[in-house]
This record gives sequence, structure tokens and C-alpha cells, in this order.
Amino acid sequence: MSTPLQNPATGSRLAPYAATDAASRGRLHPEPAPDYRSEFQRDRDRIIHAAAFRRLEYKTQVFVNHEGDLFRTRLTHSIEVAQIARSIARAMRLNEDLTEAVALAHDMGHTPFGHAGQDALNECMQDHGGFEHNLQSLRVVDELEEKYAAFSGLNLTFETREGILKHCSLKNAARLGELGERFLQKTQPGLEAQLTNLADEIAYNSHDVDDGLRAELLSVKQLTEVRLFRDQYEEVKALYPGLSRRRTIHEIVRRLINCQVVDLVQSSEKRLTEQRPADLDAVRSQAEPLITFSDGMRERNLELKRFLRQNLYRHYRVHRMSAKALRVIRDLFNAFFDDPRLLPEDAQHNVQRLREQDSEHGQARAVADYIAGMTDRYAITEHERVYNPGKLT
Ligand code: MG
Repeated sequence: MSTPLQNPATGSRLAPYAATDAASRGRLHPEPAPDYRSEFQRDRDRIIHAAAFRRLEYKTQVFVNHEGDLFRTRLTHSIEVAQIARSIARAMRLNEDLTEAVALAHDMGHTPFGHAGQDALNECMQDHGGFEHNLQSLRVVDELEEKYAAFSGLNLTFETREGILKHCSLKNAARLGELGERFLQKTQPGLEAQLTNLADEIAYNSHDVDDGLRAELLSVKQLTEVRLFRDQYEEVKALYPGLSRRRTIHEIVRRLINCQVVDLVQSSEKRLTEQRPADLDAVRSQAEPLITFSDGMRERNLELKRFLRQNLYRHYRVHRMSAKALRVIRDLFNAFFDDPRLLPEDAQHNVQRLREQDSEHGQARAVADYIAGMTDRYAITEHERVYNPGKLT
């Protein structure tokens, strides 16, 4: 049976607790409603046209961008998250446009070199308020994109911004006004934000398995220790004995994604039927998320995560990359913070502006913004330009 077409602009045919334009808390700077698009479609379109979104193509998740053309980048990861999240949203009659906007924007604040880069920048910023990648994604869409005449940032709706800010320290939440409230009150965001968060997990667990196998840092045999993988492996082996390695892996990975999506939709629908939230506000006032895996799937999922941490993220070849990333980021931060005149002119202006607002913390923040915006290869080239006397500046 096919799902009836939804009209996201009016919210008809959406579940009563879905986000809609009508129930939106709006934008920081009021704007007339868009022609022919919903408010959340407009958010998505602004995200796609943002410079920070284009740079995701050259930023990595686990592997460094130039290690191979076949691995996921932040851009392909974000597209995979959007695909998974939209499927879930449509199945649950939630707002697909909002879901897509959140998914495409969720990693826009990521530093070069994946998690290693983020940890390095956080360390550099310890005396200046720290660095949180979710908060940086929000900073990109709220302040750093310079495209519009009337405002800085992209002026996105509250709901998209709420979805982007997955986590936030209490200290920072207190400074964020309405958007930070839920962290202080320990309540939940809308369902579109909740599901995109889990779609992100489904995407990266599955594609890290895929990329790890392709890079031969993991073996199929080793992965059969993990129940979630083993179940799919056995099904594929039984259905297609003698299938090539490449096809076997893909058949497993697609099943990995599918079984988690199906579980998520079913157990979340069950919760929603039990709790019956009347509307979006009722969803937001809950202490626990309504979008969840079943207990069994959550356990299997954790087992896979533990396996990946142990065998992939801590693999010596990944660690070498992380150690290099740490050095590059640290060196760049120190050089620019100590002598901002080494920065390109635009970045120097930002240092000056933020310094006027918050003295040396502002200076550090402007340097962190500049470094966080770099792609992997740009960071490597900048490092060369700043530190290698033989390299042209
Ligand atoms: Mg992500």
C-alpha cells in the first residue's frame, strides 16, 4: 500500500505531533513566507547553497580525505543520513522537509580530520570556552555564513536549529536562550530532530563497517563476532552461496541499515501509541525520547559500536592519522593565536571584531572558527605555508 502524498506546507496528512509551518516558532529575523516552498524546504535550500555545506565534500569522518576516493566524506555521510532520516519521517508521517534540513546541516560545524580534529581544537580552546562541534554547526548557520544582506548566518527556523543542536554543555545551553532551554530542563526536541539523531547513528555505524572492510582494517570473519552483523551475514550466505566479497558486503550493509530502520519505526510507533502526545509541545515536554530502538536492537547497536571503537577507531593506521591531525590543528591554532597577522585578511577582521567583544577569548574563537572551516587538504596546505620555510605563502 502506498503512503498518501503529504503536503508539508499545510501539515495536512502529517501526524498531529509532527512539526508544521503553522506550529513553527519561526526565524530570528522575520521574513515573508516563501513562494511554492514550505519554510523547512527553504531551510534545506539555504543549507545546500551554504559554503560550509560544500566544504563537507573535503572533510572526513574516519579516514583522511586523500586516502582514497571510495570512502565516505562528511558530504556523502550527510546525504546518507538525509536518505535514512527521510524514509523514517515519511513512514511515521513526520515532516520530511524539516528532517532533510536537519540531516544535511547536522555536521556543518565539523572540523577537518573528523573526531581527531575536533578533539584537538577542543583542547586548544580549553581556556577559552572549549569547542563543541554541534554548537559550531549552529554557529555556522546562525552567524558564520555571510550571504544575506539583512542578517548574518542563514536565518533558519527554530525547528531546524533545534535539530542541529543535538548536544550542548549546560554552561553553553544557559547562553542560548530558548534554544538551550531543553538541555537545562532535560526535555526533548521535536520528533524530526530525535529521528535524525538516530539516523546519523545508523548511517555511520553501517558505513564505517563498509569503509573499514574496504580499507581492510576489518575482516568479515572478525565482524561475525558482532551479532547484528552476523545475523545479516548468515542470511546473505544462505540466500546467495558463493557470492563475491564485494556483493556480499553490500548485501550485508543494506540489511544492516534496513533492519535498524524497521526496528526504529516499529518501536517508536509503539511508544507514540502508548504516550499519545497531542502535539509538538507535548512531544517537547517529555523527559525521555519517543523515537527509540527496541531494547534488543539498542543492545546490538551498542555491541557494534564497541566493536568499531576497539577495532576500527583505535586501529594503528587510523590512530596515525589522528595523531597527525592533532599536530596540524595544534600548530595552526598556536601560530594564529600568537600572531593573528599570519591570518588572511578576512580572518584578521574576524579576530579584531571578536576581540573587541571578548578580548583574548574572542581572539581564540575567531581562530577556532577559521580552523574549523578548513577542509582536510586546506589544513595540510596551510600548515605547510605557515611552518615550512621552503613553501610559498
Ligand atoms: Mg553525523
